Amino acid sequence: MSTIWVRTLWQLLAIVVFVFAPVAVAWDVATGLLALIAGLLFLLGWHVFHFGLLMGWLEGSLDSPLPRGSGAWEIAFAGLHRRVRIRLGQQQSLTETLERFMRAFQALPDGVIAFDRHRHIDWINERAAAHFALSAGTDRGQALTNLIRHPDFVAYLDNGHFDEPLIYRGGRVEGLTLLLQVIPYGNDQSLLVSRDISQLERMETMRRDFIANVSHELKTPLTVVAGFSEMLAEGYEEYSADEVKRYLKLICEQNGRMQHLIEDLLTLSSLESGGAPPIDERVEVAPMLHSILNDIKALSAGQHEISLAVEMPSVLRGCANELRSAFGNLASNAVRYTPAGGRIELVWRVNAENGAGEFVVTDTGIGIAAQHLPRLTERFYRVDRSRSRETGGTGLGLAIVKHVLTRHQATLAVTSELGKGSCFTARIPAERLLSRQ
Ligand code: ADP
Repeated sequence: MSTIWVRTLWQLLAIVVFVFAPVAVAWDVATGLLALIAGLLFLLGWHVFHFGLLMGWLEGSLDSPLPRGSGAWEIAFAGLHRRVRIRLGQQQSLTETLERFMRAFQALPDGVIAFDRHRHIDWINERAAAHFALSAGTDRGQALTNLIRHPDFVAYLDNGHFDEPLIYRGGRVEGLTLLLQVIPYGNDQSLLVSRDISQLERMETMRRDFIANVSHELKTPLTVVAGFSEMLAEGYEEYSADEVKRYLKLICEQNGRMQHLIEDLLTLSSLESGGAPPIDERVEVAPMLHSILNDIKALSAGQHEISLAVEMPSVLRGCANELRSAFGNLASNAVRYTPAGGRIELVWRVNAENGAGEFVVTDTGIGIAAQHLPRLTERFYRVDRSRSRETGGTGLGLAIVKHVLTRHQATLAVTSELGKGSCFTARIPAERLLSRQ
């Protein structure tokens, strides 16, 4: 039997023993019965009072505290209190689980929109809101196809075959390419998952352009080599010794061009793959620049006035080979793009304000129009293709320079005026200068 019934029986027994019996003994049984009825009425009133408290609590707000009672009601209220506490605890942990779940959804790198069978939006995470320029708050409840009206998307939803994803371009966010997939779940509910593939697409385009460029670069020299080789193989004796010599020279030239291109491609690829050696050798700037000076004097063959000024001999922390290749590229470009009779100045100095080392190459050459400047370090970007080829260029020099400088936390600045000349400045940060003598 439950405690409440035991308590109530004890109360009834107490009324009989302590109210009815003494009164019946002191007076008579009739008076005893009257006292018993009065006792029972008091007990009833006491129960009605507590029942009233319980009803008041039940009808009150959900968070109103449980009333206090005594006797059997104290036990009943305590039981209720325990149940309410357990429920609240369960509710709390459910709310926390739901919040964790929502936070996980928000943290997803993909956009997620949950919608019902009428295509009304139930829920949007922030990434999806950004992908479709929606508001995670105010657009809930709206029809998905009212907000994303692109015909490709509407057709994809109408079609109902969601095994294949949809590549979605031309949405409200400019330049964004999304991979969309609908995943049906539960009772006519669906998730629209969106993934930003713009970067992947750009890389794929770059890869395709790169392959097309390399093939194009190799095609011309290969055609020349193949043509002359075939000519000589088929009718060597038909040509004079001078002609044969000239053709062989052309073959050698084109071979050299292809070799140069392959070397530059390998350099670029090793720089880009990050597999290059660590860059903390001691690099003495002055001897390196004197050796570059000798190289470009040989390249110029006396056609230019070339000077080198090392204003402050320094020692750098970096990769000697890479820095020599980058500085050498800037210097040889100055020779290649400066007509005979022009002037080329190489200067090494340390910036007094920030302590950065600066290698400055100034020429009085053909110059570069302003619109080309931002693209100069792109692979295979050339202002004038034929001039670059005539001078043995591969279109990869400045791309290599940029990679090398980036690996040294250095930057490249270019100023130029068409027809007057250019100035290329490689800035090496002060932290990479070991000493300034
Ligand atoms: P390339 O092998 O064609 O010289 P680079 O990457 O070294 O390739 O340079 C890219 C382009 O930048 C060149 O084709 C040329 O048009 C331009 N350029 C680079 N240096 C100079 C310069 N000193 N003067 C004028 N144009 C330059």
